[in-house]
Amino acid sequence: MSSFRTLDDIEQVSGKVALVRVDLNLPMNGGQVTDRTRINASAPTILELADAGAKVLLLAHFGRPKGQRSSTQSLSMVVDAVQDVLGREIMFVPEVAGDVVAQSVGILRDGDVAILENTRFWPGEEANDAEFAAAIAANGDFYVNDAFSAAHRAHASTEAITHCLPSFAGRAMQKELEALDRALGNPEKPVAAVVGGAKVSSKLAVLEHLVGIVDHLIIGGGMANTFLAARGVDVGKSLCEHELKPTVEAIMEAADRSGCTVHLPYDVVVATEFAANPASLRTCNVHEVAAEEIILDIGPQATEALGDVLKTCRTLVWNGPLGAFETEPFDAATVSLAKTAAALTREGSLVSVAGGGDTVAALNHAGAGDDFTYVSTAGGAFLGWMEGRELPGVAALTP
Ligand code: ADP
Ligand code: MG
Repeated sequence: MSSFRTLDDIEQVSGKVALVRVDLNLPMNGGQVTDRTRINASAPTILELADAGAKVLLLAHFGRPKGQRSSTQSLSMVVDAVQDVLGREIMFVPEVAGDVVAQSVGILRDGDVAILENTRFWPGEEANDAEFAAAIAANGDFYVNDAFSAAHRAHASTEAITHCLPSFAGRAMQKELEALDRALGNPEKPVAAVVGGAKVSSKLAVLEHLVGIVDHLIIGGGMANTFLAARGVDVGKSLCEHELKPTVEAIMEAADRSGCTVHLPYDVVVATEFAANPASLRTCNVHEVAAEEIILDIGPQATEALGDVLKTCRTLVWNGPLGAFETEPFDAATVSLAKTAAALTREGSLVSVAGGGDTVAALNHAGAGDDFTYVSTAGGAFLGWMEGRELPGVAALTP
């Protein structure tokens, strides 16, 4: 891993002004924050800096205000929730740059925390504008990025600002980068990747990157249908991207060249309608799917075989459920393999890293999320990492 600077590398914290990029793009309902996971994630960084005597200015975006002020997307709405999590009073500043921020810094005492307004109220944010970044930076002494989830975008508060101030990774960012490095950057071999979810087209770059670096590529979900169809299997009425046959063939060839075994299911769970516990539910070999049937999960034999594959591996990276897990019983394969991975992780024989919105929900549904080595809630940035892309917000922290 290219080494990045962390809080341990900051020369002097006490008496300085820290501009800290965090993820406050929180789920809200009726003006109330409904999930505090993201605040919890950055609390250690904020408290560490504040307790070491910095004045901490939090920088974050919320929603998509498109470069204009919007009263319904002001970060003033998250102040109460952040105060609650941090257990201390914080100030809200309705600007990100200029005199109002400078005056607020004058009022703050060492160890105080303030939230600046939504960075996306200004067009310079998404344009990664150097002048806008310099104006934000003018009120700080150093910059800390603790928002891995925003690191796949080169925006003023994630990228341009690092050209103005000494820049460091916060503790949550550090933890995420170290976990991802253990999973894909510098993993212990053999490495297995599970890629599931609805569509091959949404994860092409992920598949293309993974076949070159993992030992086992496990395909599940709707994507498996596209792979099976490309091999001549009749998948009936299943979700399937038939037009991707040449792409799938190219991925299989690349896997062959690099010694990556691609695992496709040989049994599947099907029904003639997509509903919970339908009367038409049955399990069959992939070659026995009828014209009116839909594949909604991979089968129990395939799932057991995949568990055996994981037992031979030291590292697992997982994105995408193996079936339509939101509807019973099409969660069975995902739940079973997640439990196997969790048990192997608990025993210490597997490093397991997972990410993706639906994947996180599926692992929690299986009661397995807490046992994984690391579960990333970063979405786009996690997928970008799985694609092997350099993330601008991470690259900016590397000397
Ligand atoms: P993530 O959010 O973790 O990246 P995706 O969004 O790619 O995952 O995929 C999740 C979705 O894929 C789920 O809504 C799930 O129901 C769907 N899915 C999984 N298997 C199938 C299938 N066989 N047919 C249709 N949809 C499926
Ligand atoms: Mg999803």
